[in-house]
Amino acid sequence: MSDNPLRNLPSVDQLLQNPMIQQLVQQASRSSVVQKVRDTLDEVRQKVTETASEAHVPSPQEIVDRVAGWMKMEEGQELRPVINATGVLLHTGLGRAPLAQIASQEILSLSERYSSLEFDLKTGQRGRRTTAISALLRELTGAEAATVVNNNAAATMLTLAALCQGREVIVSRGQLVEIGGSYRLPEVMEAAGCQLVEVGTTNKTRLQDYEKAITPATAAILRVHPSNYVVCGFTEAPSLKELSDLARKKNIHLIDDIGSGAMLEFGQYGLQDEPTVAHSVQYAGVSLFSGDKLLGGPQSGMIVGNAALVAQITQHPMMRALRVGKLTLSALQATLKLYRDPKLAAEQIPLLRMLQTPVENLRLRAGKIAEQLRSQSAFVNVEVVDSQATLGGGSLPTQELPSVAIRLRPASGSVTKLAEQLRVANPAIVGRIRDEALWLDLKSVAPTEDRLLVEAIAGLPQNETTDTVQED
Ligand SMILES: *Cc1c(COP(=O)(O)O)cnc(C)c1O
Repeated sequence: MSDNPLRNLPSVDQLLQNPMIQQLVQQASRSSVVQKVRDTLDEVRQKVTETASEAHVPSPQEIVDRVAGWMKMEEGQELRPVINATGVLLHTGLGRAPLAQIASQEILSLSERYSSLEFDLKTGQRGRRTTAISALLRELTGAEAATVVNNNAAATMLTLAALCQGREVIVSRGQLVEIGGSYRLPEVMEAAGCQLVEVGTTNKTRLQDYEKAITPATAAILRVHPSNYVVCGFTEAPSLKELSDLARKKNIHLIDDIGSGAMLEFGQYGLQDEPTVAHSVQYAGVSLFSGDKLLGGPQSGMIVGNAALVAQITQHPMMRALRVGKLTLSALQATLKLYRDPKLAAEQIPLLRMLQTPVENLRLRAGKIAEQLRSQSAFVNVEVVDSQATLGGGSLPTQELPSVAIRLRPASGSVTKLAEQLRVANPAIVGRIRDEALWLDLKSVAPTEDRLLVEAIAGLPQNETTDTVQED
C-alpha cells in the first residue's frame, strides 16, 4: 500500500500548464477543458484502484492526449450544417427535409421578436397556438379539424391515448412496423394504454379478418402505411374505403397513420403508391402524418380529421406535453402556405425541387465538380457515374430515383479515412462508400452547395490523406 501507483498522477493544475491543453482552452472554453481533465483523472484513479497493482498509470502526455481526443470527438457531435451527398433525400440522421427558404426566414422574423403565439390580435384575448396551422390544414386537406404536435410518433401516441385508452385496437400483422429503431408500433400502443389485437398474416389481411376481431371492447382499427418496407408478391389488404365502411357499420374509429404525408400526387415525380393526405381524410376518422417527410417542413406531427375526434384529442392532458414551439409553428405555417399554389410548392420546397431535377442537370453539375477535383493530387480517380438515389426517412423504400454521383478514389490511404475527412471538413460532407470508392450523389445536394463542396474538398489536408491503414 505504501507505493501507491497514483502518487505520480499529475494534478489538474499541472495538466492545465501543458501547452496542448492551453491550446484546447483557447479553442473551446476553460470550464469545459477543466471538466474533462478532472473526469479523465477520476477515470484513471478508478481504473487503477480497481485493478490494483497491474494497473498502467498513464503518463501526463497520455492523459493530455486522452483529453484532446475527447474534445475532438465532442466537436464531431455538435449540431452543424452538412452537405448531404448520400443520395438519401429524407435522411433521418441528417435532419430529414431541408426547409424552404421562406420557412427559415419566417423562423428568423418570428423568433427574434415577440409574436402572437397564443394571442388573438383582433380581440386582444388569449388565443390558441395551433389556430392558424389548423385552418391551413383544413383548407389544404379538406378535413373538418386539425392540430399539430411534436412528431408523428407523438400524434399516434396522443390519438390512441385520447380515443382508445383501456380498449382494443385492431392492426393488421402486415403493418406492425418499426421505424428508426425506437418507434415500434406494439410498444407505442402499450404506452398509450391500448390493447393491440393483431389480425391477418404478414402478407394477407382480409376485411373479414378485421370484422371477426371486432368485439364490444374494440375502440378502433388502426391502419399504418408500411413506409419503410414493402410487402410484395401474394398480398391482400382491404381498401381504405372498405375499412371505413366497416368502422362506420360497427361504430368504431378508423385511424390512418399515413406516415410521409404527401400533400400532392407524387406519381408526377416518379414515385408510385404514396397515399395523399386528402385521400386519407376522405375515409378515415383521423389521419396522422409527419411534417418533415414528403411535406418538406419542420419536424412535427399532424392530426387531421373528424371535428369531434380532433377535439377529444386536443383536450387530452398529454397534448400540453407534446405541443410544438413557435419556431416549428412559424416554419410549418410558411411551408403549408406554399401548398396553396402547388406550382409554388414545387418550386420552393427543396425536397420537391430535388425530386424534379432532371438527371441531365445532375450530370452537368457533376462534370463541373469532377473537373475541379481532378486537379487535386489527393485522388487517383475522379469519375462521373450513374447512381440511384432513394427517398429514405422511412418512405417508399424500394423506389429508386435515377441520379448521378462523383466517384472518388483516394491517391493514398483508405476510403474510410477519406470519408471521415470529408465528414469533419467545413462544411461537413457525408457521402456513401461503395466499391472501395466514395460516392458523392448529387440528387440530395442543392446546386448552391456545389461550390462549397469543391472548396471543402480542396481544403482537405493534402498530405494527411496518407494514413496508417494498410491496404493490399
Ligand atoms: C415516419 C413514420 C412514423 C414516425 O414519424 P415521426 O414524425 O418520425 O415521429 C410513424 N408512422 C409511420 C407510418 C411513419 O412513416
